[in-house]
Amino acid sequence: MYDDRQPAPGNPDDETPASRSTRAGLEFRSLLDAAVDAIIVIDQRGCVEQFSLSAERVFGYKAEEVVGRNVSMLMPEPYRSEHDGYLERYHETGEARIIGIGREVRAQRKDGTIFPCELAVGQVAEARPPRFIGFIRDITLRKLADERLRRSESELRLAQELANLGNYVIHLDHSEPDYYSPKLHRILDVAAIDDAVPLTTLLRLWVHPSDRERFDEALEELQSTQAAFDVEYRIVRADGTTRHLHHIAQLTRDAEGRPVRHVGTVHDITDRRQTEDDARQLQERLTHFSRLSTMGEMAAGLAHEINQPLSAITMYAQACQRFMRSPNREDADVLEALEQISVQALRAGEVIRRLRNFVKNREVKREPVDCNRLLEDLRTLAETDARLHNVRLRIDDEPDLPTVHADPIQLQQVVLNLVRNAIDAMDDVPETQREVVLSARLLPEGEIEVVVADHGSGLVPEATEHLFNPFFTTKSGGTGLGLAISRSIVRAHGGRLWHTPNERTGARFHFTLPVSPAPRRE
Ligand code: ADP
Repeated sequence: MYDDRQPAPGNPDDETPASRSTRAGLEFRSLLDAAVDAIIVIDQRGCVEQFSLSAERVFGYKAEEVVGRNVSMLMPEPYRSEHDGYLERYHETGEARIIGIGREVRAQRKDGTIFPCELAVGQVAEARPPRFIGFIRDITLRKLADERLRRSESELRLAQELANLGNYVIHLDHSEPDYYSPKLHRILDVAAIDDAVPLTTLLRLWVHPSDRERFDEALEELQSTQAAFDVEYRIVRADGTTRHLHHIAQLTRDAEGRPVRHVGTVHDITDRRQTEDDARQLQERLTHFSRLSTMGEMAAGLAHEINQPLSAITMYAQACQRFMRSPNREDADVLEALEQISVQALRAGEVIRRLRNFVKNREVKREPVDCNRLLEDLRTLAETDARLHNVRLRIDDEPDLPTVHADPIQLQQVVLNLVRNAIDAMDDVPETQREVVLSARLLPEGEIEVVVADHGSGLVPEATEHLFNPFFTTKSGGTGLGLAISRSIVRAHGGRLWHTPNERTGARFHFTLPVSPAPRRE
């Protein structure tokens, strides 16, 4: 480990004062060379006296190339020019500008490259004339790592900004300060989130009343089980604006299962939701219009097709009258005209028969349908509509209901229709009361009863009689076909559809379906 500048250690007992001072010098030298930091000793004029091995490594100079020369050769501008000034000022005023202070400067290697370093300078004690010792640490790698970290942090921040994504880490054991990303503050529109009002409490206060139950259930599940929190809900911020959030969170636990950290992301999906809702509304309007226009076209076609035989019948009937009044009438002409009347009447009947076939053209499939499943699927289908009207959808079914033998698509149409009507009926009701309850139960007579209940305006008295008539509607954009079609579907399945008033306000629409026959035993 010793280099050729270090003599082999001698016996300290044989020492003279001169050899002791030589030995101290050598010890100092080996100390310099063992140091990790570059060490440079300069005299009061700035000339290098000692240049350690690590200084050689850092600067790329051999000691003999530097010793005796001004230390400013190791500095780039402007330090190079300023350095002599430092020394002069020190001599004049005794004020050491950088003595003892570790600060970041830039130094220059032999090959001209400039690198960042940390510099600490001390004065050698009691040395006359004064000498200074400098410790230089090359911090290029640290700087690079800092820069990389800074860049990846700023890229992450930019990505979060672009994706509308905020994140947070809550240390439940208070081992470290909690972290809330700047974007999260902006999503929630708060300047700071502090311990006084923890994040979940803050969110809970703001969660839209219709989404609160879902939020609470998921939070409860997160705390009591290993399940991840993954919920979409709305918040109403302090300024009254509503935002749609997709919130994912997880708890990490210690070996004893105690929650230690709560980590989560909050994604502001308001714009996406808005676009989806707009698109859906547009789609619905289009479907509605296309339904109307299809019906309009059908009606026009029907009128045209029936008009032809009707005109022919009128024409032949008038001809008959003329023949009958004529003094020299021929019975054969009258019979011919009557025959034509009958042919044309049959033709009109055929048109009507074709039309009826066309209307019930869809192939009806009967299969065992799980009612619990049917209602769950419906929740998915009706959710957007309900959310759009700030209506809560609740399913209240008996577990393990038997299956019914039915066409699932047609049944969906029926329930969806009833749910849509229920939602429409609650347009003028305060948001907190807007709830549709879908329930299903097994009746003693072996039928399933499905009920769609709302707290809307209820049925207007003059409507109750005509409710199921095609084209009866009290809505400006209604078709008046929903209940008529629903009733014919339910009847075709061997069930009944009727309505009763709901408790307090609103309406209940009920329908029954016979349960599937039990499978035959072989
Ligand atoms: P539409 O919904 O196009 O009007 P429907 O046949 O589905 O056609 O409904 C007919 C009418 O029945 C509605 O216009 C409305 O007056 C009434 N109605 C249906 N469901 C309800 C309900 N849940 N509450 C109050 N009125 C209802």
